[in-house]
Amino acid sequence: MPSFHHPDAPDAQGQFGPYGGRYLPETLIPTLDHLERTYREIREDDGFWSEYRALLADYVGRPSPLFHARALSDALGGARLFLKREDLNHTGAHKINNCLGQVLLARRMGKRRIIAETGAGQHGVATATVCALYGLPCVIFMGAVDVARQADNVARMKMLGAEVRTVNQGSATLKEAMNAAIRDWIAHPDETYYLLGTGAGPHPYPWIVREFQKVIGQETRKQLLDQTGQLPDAMIACVGGGSNAMGFFHPFLDEPGVRLYGIEAGGHGLHTAQHAASLGQGRMGVLHGCCSYYLQDEDGQIANAHSISAGLDYPGVGPEHALLRDTARVTYASVTDAQAVDAFRWLTRLQGIIPALESAHALAYARELAPTMGTDQILVVCLSGRGDKDLKTVQQFEETSP
Ligand SMILES: *Cc1c(COP(=O)(O)O)cnc(C)c1O
Repeated sequence: MPSFHHPDAPDAQGQFGPYGGRYLPETLIPTLDHLERTYREIREDDGFWSEYRALLADYVGRPSPLFHARALSDALGGARLFLKREDLNHTGAHKINNCLGQVLLARRMGKRRIIAETGAGQHGVATATVCALYGLPCVIFMGAVDVARQADNVARMKMLGAEVRTVNQGSATLKEAMNAAIRDWIAHPDETYYLLGTGAGPHPYPWIVREFQKVIGQETRKQLLDQTGQLPDAMIACVGGGSNAMGFFHPFLDEPGVRLYGIEAGGHGLHTAQHAASLGQGRMGVLHGCCSYYLQDEDGQIANAHSISAGLDYPGVGPEHALLRDTARVTYASVTDAQAVDAFRWLTRLQGIIPALESAHALAYARELAPTMGTDQILVVCLSGRGDKDLKTVQQFEETSP
């Protein structure tokens, strides 16, 4: 356990160590300053938090349960395995926690138009949902490849009243969708609120998103103490941009006895170019206004990421994870598409819970870790979302692999 104390908030430059910051055109700096000022105001505003907490309870259905998965624990023969059930939230994943908080923030700022990017479509659906709740016009940018592989979520967004703009550039996935959203934002900074879906992008987004997702870890801590009287020995979450993992880990960063594991998408394996392990194989760089670890070629061009799960298919990661990697407070590892699909089937059959393929990455790692732990120890996995959206992907994967 290193002696380094992880900062609770970014520094005056908006950085976590050397990572983070605001690498964007000058014209957006006043907009980011306005966002940061408003956010600092609402941090002290009890009225804001009571409105937010009431929505989390009555609209999202929080607290989400903490479930002792006995069949999994028995099958693995090691640690007692618990699942934090973010899959049971309204809209089926953790993303709604952040969307609700940021839409309340946008309303405080007097912004009437919401834009967002989406990969798997989960963030688009969560954003369109909250916009419907508040009667706000909403535009979602989505890569053409993702539009094709997540057709159900596209239909859902449209049903909720959002406009979905298909982005055809480059690999036509999340990276390009984010570029398009940022371009739109630069063109309309006064009336538009950019609702970023993960703990990445320019300061203050990584900080704001983590603070709105922190409820996952806070509830986990209380629920586990109530159920067992213990803190966890280890915790595992999948890492795309890193928001569910940051929210899950944050209340435990100062607990030296709690080992933390962030699992990236290993795609076809880290020895291939087909993966999304930016912390495992990436280097320091800048994308979407933020300094962090990114997958890059020798010339520093951002490489295309691959994962079977659209929600992990991003060539970078939030700046707070970059610092946690360097300080070794969190251990980062990866699992392959095949391991994730296997874990998806395993949880479904053993506990009757169909997980998102993203979350199945965390579960796959739990299958390796739990047997190395004692039966008196506790392992908690963040089940970030439900897997109804992934059934076709899993079926196709199994039909095409030997
Ligand atoms: C979007 C998504 C992720 C990845 O995003 P993070 O910001 O890394 O949490 C993980 N799980 C599910 C279910 C998602 O929808």
